[in-house]
Amino acid sequence: HALDIADPIRTQAILRRYGFQFKKSLGQNFLTNQRVLSEIVDAADLQPTDIVVEIGPGIGSLTEQLARRVQQVIAVEIDSRLMPILDETLAPYDNVQVINQDILKTDLKTLLASYPGHGAVKVVANLPYYITTPIMFNLIQGEIQPDRLVLMMQKEVAQRITSKPKSKHYGSLSISVQTLMATNIAAIVPKTAFVPQPNVDSAVLVLQRYTESPYRISEPELFEKIVTGSFQQRRKSLQNNLCHIFGKNQRDQIVDLISSLDLPAQVRAEQLSIDQFIALTDQCAERFA
Ligand code: SAM
Repeated sequence: HALDIADPIRTQAILRRYGFQFKKSLGQNFLTNQRVLSEIVDAADLQPTDIVVEIGPGIGSLTEQLARRVQQVIAVEIDSRLMPILDETLAPYDNVQVINQDILKTDLKTLLASYPGHGAVKVVANLPYYITTPIMFNLIQGEIQPDRLVLMMQKEVAQRITSKPKSKHYGSLSISVQTLMATNIAAIVPKTAFVPQPNVDSAVLVLQRYTESPYRISEPELFEKIVTGSFQQRRKSLQNNLCHIFGKNQRDQIVDLISSLDLPAQVRAEQLSIDQFIALTDQCAERFA
């Protein structure tokens, strides 16, 4: 083929020949912009020995770019109507395994084990936006421990994930991801890069596993409870949110605890750094154990 799968002319021809109808419920917005594909591939920093897991290959536009650069691609697609299309479009690439499954139910560990001797494990995907966060957390907390993830998602979600304290997007999502991975937005992507066009702008988010984590969380469950609870009512003070978690009868303890961390009495959660949330958790573990 002279044209890449993502070329708008070839994409249209494929879709027409198979009479393919997009399913909105599956988040089907296919990429037809070569520049955006290069941005995704560049952000993945691919090495020939890498093994890449792709979620939702669609008709294979991104898959093709990955297959040209790495040893092996495993592409997991839920929509069985795309199987005959992928058979055809990816026929030139013998290093792609397409799996017709729901990514949330896929045993990636066993799949990867069938390719011994591979280099880094990377996840690259133009995600179905309706399940962005469950997919992301499954991958970063699951068994396969990818070295890097490059994920196209809604711009606003990417902003929330990468936000730092005192910014309006900073919240429990920023903290839970940043404690596990280094985060970075590699590109902002306009709606026009897709067919059909989604309702929102998108961003390419890069998550890189820390070589050494800057955070040591000794009580992960309590940390999680405190972080989500502290942002429960964003506009209210940390003091009030903590009273909600630990009980109003603990207010004196909580006031004392906040001042012992050198924080102003009326501080709000969005002003606390991750390290300050860790210190807060350690204090709560001691006082409310
Ligand atoms: N990678 C293609 C591209 O960039 O043109 C398609 C991306 S499209 C945004 C998302 C893809 O994920 C669709 O092909 C959709 O069918 C698939 N998908 C949706 N839910 C899924 C799930 N739970 N597991 C696997 N794939 C899913």
